[in-house]
Parts: sequence; structure tokens; C-alpha cells
Amino acid sequence: MLPHMAVSLAWNLWRSPKLSADELQDLRDRKLRQLIRHAFEQVPYYRTLFTSVGLSPEDVQATDDLKKVPVSTKEDLVAAGLSSRLAQSTSRDTCCVSRTSGSSGEPLSTCLNEREQTIRRLLGLRRLVEARFRPWDRLCILCDPTQLSSRRFRTRVVPVVLPPEEQIAQLQRIKPTVLKAWPSSLKVLMHHTRHQLGRFIQPRIVALSGEECSDELRGEIQSDLEAEVFVFYGAGELGPIASECRYHGGLHINADQLIVECGIENRPSEPGDLVITSLFGLSMPFIRYRTGDTGILQEKACPCGSRFPILTSLQGRSGKVIRLPEGRVASVAAVVNTALRPFPTIQKFRLIQESVGDFVLQTVFLEPPAEETLSHMKCRMSECLGSGVELTVTVVDTIDEEGARKFGNFISKLTAGSTPGPLDPN
Ligand SMILES: [Zn+2]
Repeated sequence: MLPHMAVSLAWNLWRSPKLSADELQDLRDRKLRQLIRHAFEQVPYYRTLFTSVGLSPEDVQATDDLKKVPVSTKEDLVAAGLSSRLAQSTSRDTCCVSRTSGSSGEPLSTCLNEREQTIRRLLGLRRLVEARFRPWDRLCILCDPTQLSSRRFRTRVVPVVLPPEEQIAQLQRIKPTVLKAWPSSLKVLMHHTRHQLGRFIQPRIVALSGEECSDELRGEIQSDLEAEVFVFYGAGELGPIASECRYHGGLHINADQLIVECGIENRPSEPGDLVITSLFGLSMPFIRYRTGDTGILQEKACPCGSRFPILTSLQGRSGKVIRLPEGRVASVAAVVNTALRPFPTIQKFRLIQESVGDFVLQTVFLEPPAEETLSHMKCRMSECLGSGVELTVTVVDTIDEEGARKFGNFISKLTAGSTPGPLDPN
């Protein structure tokens, strides 16, 4: 992308939270009309979907018309396949293909062109600046390093699957002033240090993302690290969705780039399913996509001056942890992200813990896997689970939907008290 185009994108992104309500509405309606026409003309999946309900691009002129478009679930998109969701004018060779972590047990691939990657990066920077990130801050992310397409803003990365003592040693060397992490990863480190993590690192800001965070865990992180805690909400397929500003009155939705609907079939004061349309994703559009998360949307003034609506009561992927032999614990997200990301032909999976050292990984593949694929996967997963663990990998035809909705991608059959310790497993 040419530098002046990136500067123009950045300028527009910086001023849009302060647009008047009418200006913001005009911007969203204009982008929506462009998106719907593009999807109809260029994307086989959406052309078929629109045609199935007799919808033409002229029928969607403003955000209020969006409800005429049927909702798509992750399962619908996985079943449709990558090529049917990719715009015909887009070459896969010029895109970055990323895969969601599969926290629901069902990974989904997404294609992003250079412009879309830049917008995501700028949205990531905008939320950090809102959280009082400063250019001289040392930003460190606790994550799976393969998740990041590039290092930005001088970001340091500590891999979440390292043993906790090694993660802490690396963090001590980096001395982050801003730390971004999954809540479950911090829970593991706090457990390891007996809630004395603040003796080892003293970040000024902790940004929690990737999983739901209970108020209780948020409070524990805040008091252990004596840091200001911000919650960021995003999804691998959509990028940054919403984030807290410095007034912590809920999460401002990136309303200039996304249309977020919720509570469609509920009263507005009750949490409803989040259905999201990405206004900037044209290579592989997401239109009325049900994320599987729930929340309450509020149009209220915030002292920060942003006119973006606020999301509260956000509930979604829970940050579970696994109890392991020798009193070890690990974040489910850290284990499955790191172990399974290199396998694009996995359609669904579920990790079942039969006893403390005995695991079964159920997998559903899009096409029959080679023997080497399965042994490579077993090897990676065993490494992530560490010593003293027996793992069996099975290939199954299906994983029941009801169970997946209820339990997610991890089921522990350990009974309460079978592995005594101060950690609440979920
Ligand atoms: Zn605000």
C-alpha cells in the first residue's frame, strides 16, 4: 500500500469516533451499500444467499435494511468453503490467509488484502491509544507467536506455551509497561506465583482479550499487578471489534468499520446474540455473521467524547485452564492455539481430559488426514501439554453441536477435589 493511502486511512480512523451521529450514519450507510453490491457481484456464497431470499443490492440502502439479509453462522461459512467466500476479483496469492484459533472448536480461515490488514493494525493501535498507550511504552503480548502476522509498534512477544517460570523470566527481561494477554494465561502465571506476579513484573496497563473475563478474575489481576485493566474484544475473523476507553464504562464498538447488532429477538436490556457485519472486509466479506458471543448494546454518551455505541455484559469464549500432572496448569487457549494452528484441514476438534494425565483429542477433518499429519499433530499437542501426559488422537465423523455450544472445545472429566489446589478450573 502506498504511504499516502495509509496516512489517509489513519487520519479517517482517528477522526471517526468524534463524527456527529448523522456523519457516522452516512459513512456507515455508504460503506454498507458498497459492501452489499460487491458481495452480490463478486462473492458466490453471498450471491446464493441473497438470491435464496429474493434480495437484490438495491434492497439494502441503509443499516436498517440489513435485517433483510439472513444471518450466517460459523458453521455455514466453514461448510461453504474458502473459495466460495472469496471475492472473485481477489487473488488468494495477494492475500494473507489467517485462521481463527478455534476457541469454539471450529477453526475458520479468513483472507485479508494489504489494505484490510492495515485497517486492522490501525484499529489495534487506536484502541491502545485510547487505553493511554504512549510511544515510549514497552508493549508485550503473551500469545502464540504464529498468531501475529508481523511485529508492530515494537511489540515483544512471550510464547504462552513456555513453562510459566520461563514466561516470567522473559517478562522480567522485557519489563513491559503495557501487557496484553488472554485472561487464562495471566491466571496460570498468577497461580504459579501464588498471586505474587506483581513482584516480578509491574506493567502500568494490562489489556485482556481473546476470552471472556469474569469481574472476579479482572479484580484479581488488577490487585496482583496493581495495573489499570482494559478489556479488548475482537475475533480472528473480524479483527478488533470493541474496546474499553479510559472511563471503563463498557466497550466502544468500532462503529465506523463494523455494524454490530444484538438483542434482535430479545429486549434491548437483555444480552442478545452478537451479529456483526464488517464494513471494510471486501476480500472475504462477513455480513450478518453470528459470532456466538452475547452482549447488550447501549447508545449513551461517554466522557471520553467517542460517539461509538457501547457494548456491556459481554459473554463469549470462556478462558478455561487445564490442570496437569505435577500441579501444573495451562491455558486451554494457549494449548489449542499453538498446537493446532498449522493444520488447515481440521474442521472441528474437541480436547477431552479423562484423568489428570490422560487426554483424547477428537478431530473432524475436511478431507481424510495423512498418517504423518496425525502424528505431527499428536507430537505438537503432547509438547504443549508437557511431561507425564498420555494423548490419543482420534478422527471422528462429527462432534455434536449441542455439546460444542455447551462445553466449547475442552471437556474435563476431573471431579472437583481430585486435584486439590487453589485454582478454580473454569
Ligand atoms: Zn469512552
